[in-house]
Amino acid sequence: MKNGNGKYQLKGLTLNELQQLFKGLGEPKYRGEQVFNWMYNHLSNDFGEMLNLSKSLREKLSEKFSLESLKLVTVQNSPETGTKKYLFRTEDGNKIESVVIPDKNRNTLCISTQVGCPLDCKFCATGLMGYTRNLTAAEIVDQYLLAAKDYGKKNITNIVYMGMGEPLLNFETTVKTLSIFTSELNKGLSRNRITVSTAGIPHKIKELADSGLRVKLALSLHSCFNDIRGKLMPINKKYPVEQNIEAIKYYSKKTKTPIVFEYTMFKDVNDRDEDIKALTKLCRQLSCKINVIPFNSIAHMNPGGFGATLEPTPKDRIDDFVQTLRENNVTVMIRKTQGDDIAAACGQLAAKNK
Ligand code: SF4
Repeated sequence: MKNGNGKYQLKGLTLNELQQLFKGLGEPKYRGEQVFNWMYNHLSNDFGEMLNLSKSLREKLSEKFSLESLKLVTVQNSPETGTKKYLFRTEDGNKIESVVIPDKNRNTLCISTQVGCPLDCKFCATGLMGYTRNLTAAEIVDQYLLAAKDYGKKNITNIVYMGMGEPLLNFETTVKTLSIFTSELNKGLSRNRITVSTAGIPHKIKELADSGLRVKLALSLHSCFNDIRGKLMPINKKYPVEQNIEAIKYYSKKTKTPIVFEYTMFKDVNDRDEDIKALTKLCRQLSCKINVIPFNSIAHMNPGGFGATLEPTPKDRIDDFVQTLRENNVTVMIRKTQGDDIAAACGQLAAKNK
């Protein structure tokens, strides 16, 4: 795709695409590997730095191609937790956010796949923004490259596709970026450190299973009951729980990876004893883990309707809920609230556009 300067974007191309491109330019295929290495390992934004290419090739590349995609606008730090939120501007003036979440022995970069999101989950600030467009492969990859420049490439150990947008609604591009991140030439990242989180698009979950990428998959479950899940996540009316569980089982079997269920807790909505029973029954059917997430307020977005009635489950009830699940032999983690003070916590990303 050409950018505003009439140049073709190189970032976001896979190794195979780069090799083919150089072949087309009359160069040996290994030039593709060299440029892959410069872009994705050395985080280079400048053909002039690519000193293992001849001067004439560097000049030819900079005439025709661009390495510029996102512009970093601001970086916010959470003094409480060390969480860092990056605000980027796209070439056409949209704003998107990514977050680095530090934990004991890992730092996870949460990246966005769309400007806004069409799925309108009632607990999510991004959903309240509405949907503008899908991000390009260059824009998805550049969130990682620019964050890695700031944070240190080797310090970002994990990537999760859980920022703004539904990755499986931007399927081809998501798959392309996964193949860049999991390429054997990309140092420091491996497929088992990359998670795609979805609200549940069953046929796309199966397609991802068939892609051979074998990354980890997380399903935003939030309730095992269709009536409640449908109120929290309107997409459930199109793709109910049963269809998603069937797709998840297919994914788990095909990729031999355990599944993560994301479970944000809302007072008196999905924190009842019958929810524990339903989760226990579900987790007996496949290899999985539940991530319990305390609900982060989105009051700053002034939600209306059902969204305005949602309240966080009190900490004592979360602890009891988790304890009972564990007694039932279910693997459960409580996700620490990270970055609430800078609106960078789960479900809070919402960059104001234009
Ligand atoms: S939770 Fe995810 S899928 Fe739902 S509206 Fe927010 S960004 Fe979209």
